[in-house]
Amino acid sequence: MGIHDKKVVVIGSGIGGAGCAALLAKEGLDVTLFERNPFPGGKAASFEKDGFVYDTGVHAVGNGEKGPLGEINRIVGGSLKFNVISSGNRIIIGDGEALLPLQYSSDDAILEILEGIGVESRKKDECFLCFKELAAPRTHEEIARLDEMPLKDLIDRFTDDSRFHQMMNATCALLLVLTYYQGSAGEFVYCFSEAAKNGSLSYPVGGMGAVAKSYLDAFQKMGGCLKFNTPVTGIKVQDGRVTGVTLGDEGETVPADIVISNSGLQPTVEMVAEYLDEKYAQWVLSLKSSYGAVSVKYALNSKVIPYPLTLWMPDVNDSHMLDKYVGVFYPVPSNMDENLAPEGCQLVLAGAVTLPFPERSEICEEVLNKIEATMSMLHPGIEEHVLWKLKTDVAYIAKISGRKLGEVIGLAQDYRQVGKNRPSPRLPIGGLYVVGADAGGRGIGTEMAGDSALNVYRMVLSDIERI
Ligand SMILES: Cc1cc2nc3c(=O)[nH]c(=O)nc-3n(C[C@H](O)[C@H](O)[C@H](O)COP(=O)(O)OP(=O)(O)OC[C@H]3O[C@@H](n4cnc5c(N)ncnc54)[C@H](O)[C@@H]3O)c2cc1C
Repeated sequence: MGIHDKKVVVIGSGIGGAGCAALLAKEGLDVTLFERNPFPGGKAASFEKDGFVYDTGVHAVGNGEKGPLGEINRIVGGSLKFNVISSGNRIIIGDGEALLPLQYSSDDAILEILEGIGVESRKKDECFLCFKELAAPRTHEEIARLDEMPLKDLIDRFTDDSRFHQMMNATCALLLVLTYYQGSAGEFVYCFSEAAKNGSLSYPVGGMGAVAKSYLDAFQKMGGCLKFNTPVTGIKVQDGRVTGVTLGDEGETVPADIVISNSGLQPTVEMVAEYLDEKYAQWVLSLKSSYGAVSVKYALNSKVIPYPLTLWMPDVNDSHMLDKYVGVFYPVPSNMDENLAPEGCQLVLAGAVTLPFPERSEICEEVLNKIEATMSMLHPGIEEHVLWKLKTDVAYIAKISGRKLGEVIGLAQDYRQVGKNRPSPRLPIGGLYVVGADAGGRGIGTEMAGDSALNVYRMVLSDIERI
């Protein structure tokens, strides 16, 4: 049996699944992708309403063309394009405000950021050294040495400046969707230094959904078979190897030599638990996810906000602000791609971090109210320009990604579960792999899913003769 006779099934069309399916189809493999939703992209999908194109989430892409999403697109010959966010990327902590240039690791840029954000002048030198350390290019070995340390501990080695700590804690929440007490220093430094080196912070032309769509268009052109509205309900295993998947409630069986699941590591392990070593299954099921998020999507009848990206955080020492407001990340997609809103209008997506548990709807409600209060405080009069608003909670994220939790990223890049402590995307069942943000990659959300797609594609090619 040659490699072109092997049947591959991919479960799910998130960025990881769509990317990996397209990469394998490019090698001439016989690939079928089943997606339970009627649309592609999972957490990184886009939808149209009244001429506005809004995303499932609240997104920006750390390295655009120069990162894994661009790399997959080049390999598969996709149509994906990015707009680089060359100016107007703001971070605000209380009364301190700084503009982040694309290449933020130069001495001048760092000094300007520290000045703007309001670090104590007597602590500026130590904050400067810390920023330089976090943004410096690193080898894989150097990153691995930082993996099992919380980011806060690394920063503590340099400074106790409150504003600097708040800025890095907020940046950790943005990149890893974890606090800096939990987030791995290795993962953070990888994300932060790659973005500083590449200077290519971007937003996809056409919205976040354009990423998976571009990969899937290429996939279908190369002969890949794509089926929407088709949930995979089981994975068939015989003699320690996958033999196929079952579909829907009817349980129709589709034979496969290789199954690549983008449905999440834990849901995949649950599907095949009876064939796995109990200790391994329990370990995987005990791993923690990143935090969740809620969002308010504003369709506005005029251009209210001049910036493309803002991260706003209340100063933690200001209890009055903390009571009324919440830290908000608010990209303005139509400032990065004017086709995402009707002429003269503006699309603003404002998101805030919260617990990932869908049943805690009262917490989501409270955070959503605080997002609206924060946006009205930062942009007085915004409400008068609202054509419509859409509020999404963590139950919405869980529903769209087909998971029990509404986590933003996937399995957490917690210092206890990254690097050598992260499960392999190659499961201990022959021919079974997981792809996406849960395993097999590094980076920020969508880019971690893309990195995983590239790594799992290479892994499958290197294993395939033995499968
Ligand atoms: C609010 C929010 C803000 C974010 N902000 C950013 C950001 O600024 N930058 C960034 O890089 N990332 C961001 N992310 C994270 C990023 O979107 C995700 O980490 C990434 O898209 C996950 O991709 P994935 O490949 O792991 O799969 P997912 O997106 O989880 O997709 C999985 C797919 O599999 C399908 N599926 C599941 N089970 C089955 C089944 N049994 N049968 C068939 N299909 C199935 C699902 O329907 C879904 O389409 C954000 C996410 C959210 C929600």
